[in-house]
Amino acid sequence: TGTRASPSDYRREDGSDFPGTEHPSMQALRTGLPVKDVVMGVAVPGRDLAWILVSAIPLVKQGVVQGVHASFEDITQRVVLSRELQRQARTDDLTGVANRRNVLQRLGQEHERMQRHRGLHGCVLALDLDHFKAVNDRWGHPAGDAVLVHVAHLMQQAVRGLDIVGRTGGEEFVVLLPDTRLDEARHLGERLREHLAGSPLAWGGHSIVVTVSLGLSELSPDDSSADAALLRADQALYEAKAAGRNCLRVRAGRELTRL
Ligand code: GH3
Ligand code: MG
Ligand code: MG
Repeated sequence: TGTRASPSDYRREDGSDFPGTEHPSMQALRTGLPVKDVVMGVAVPGRDLAWILVSAIPLVKQGVVQGVHASFEDITQRVVLSRELQRQARTDDLTGVANRRNVLQRLGQEHERMQRHRGLHGCVLALDLDHFKAVNDRWGHPAGDAVLVHVAHLMQQAVRGLDIVGRTGGEEFVVLLPDTRLDEARHLGERLREHLAGSPLAWGGHSIVVTVSLGLSELSPDDSSADAALLRADQALYEAKAAGRNCLRVRAGRELTRL
C-alpha cells in the first residue's frame, strides 16, 4: 500500500505489464487467499528494473477480510545473475552470436510453427569460411579469431531484424530466415556473400580477405524434424565447396517432397 506507481511501472518476468489489480495484495484482498512468491519488476527512473519477490497474506476476522499483510524481498541481484547465465548459455563466447544449441532450438521452433500454420515459409543458410586454416597458418590463431568475430558482426549487420545468426562450429555459421521464400533467401545469401568478400579485416597494417561458401535450403513442414533442413543446407554447402568456393548452392527440399 501507499505506492504511487502506475500499473505500467510493474513488469512480469516475461516483460509484459503487471496491472495494479493483479498485485498480490489486491488478489489477497479480493479472494481472501494467500498469494506467495510472486516475482515483480519495478521500474526505477533512470535505472534498470528492480526485482522484488512479493507475498500477501489476507488478515481474516470472522470470515471477513480486514486487510492484508504483504512482504517484499529485493531479489534484483538474483534475477540479473540468472538472466546473465541464461544469456551466456545461448551465446557463442567468441563472437557473441547465437550458439549451436540456440540455433537448433530456434530452428525447431520455426519448424513447429510451420507445421501448425501450413503455408508459412522459412529458409536456412549454412556458411563455412573458405580456406580458413590458411588464415590461421599465415596470420596466427588470434588473427583467425578476429576474422571470426569480424565475419559474425558483418553477418549480423547484413541480415534483417528477425533473422538469426548463429555459430554452429569452429568456422561454421548458420542464418535462420523466418518468413522467407527461397528466391528471397537466395538474394540475401548472395548479398551476404558479396558483403563478406568485399569487407576484409584490417590486421596490423594488412588486410585479411575471407570468403564464404553457402548452402541454402527451405524449411519444410513435411520434414519429420527441423534438422533435415539443416542437413540439406549442409549438402548444398558441400556442393558450393566442390564448385570452387565463394559461391552459393541450393537444396530446396520442399519441392522435391511434393513431387
Ligand atoms: P574449406 O574451404 O574447405 O572450408 O577449408 P578450411 O581450411 O576452412 O577448412 P578446415 O576444416 O580444413 O579448417 C578449418 C579450420 O578452422 C581449422 C581450425 O584450426 C580452424 N578453427 C576452428 N575453430 C577456430 C577458432 O575458434 N579460432 C580459430 N582461429 N580457428 C579456428
Ligand atoms: Mg568447416
Ligand atoms: Mg572452412
